[in-house]
Amino acid sequence: MEVPKPKSKFVKVKCQKCKNEQIIFGKSASKIKCLVCGKLLAEPSGGKTKLKTKILEVL
Ligand SMILES: [Zn+2]
Repeated sequence: MEVPKPKSKFVKVKCQKCKNEQIIFGKSASKIKCLVCGKLLAEPSGGKTKLKTKILEVL
């Protein structure tokens, strides 16, 4: 029996600048910025997303 792997992975991160908590897609192809202060939270890097901030929880 094969266990299906989740196609998407969301992570909850915390902006280190304004402490805003935000849920972002872990494999985004574009840059993700904080919705409150605009700080860069993650950017694409070779097919993966490089997080620039602290992960609180993987959903
Ligand atoms: Zn922020």
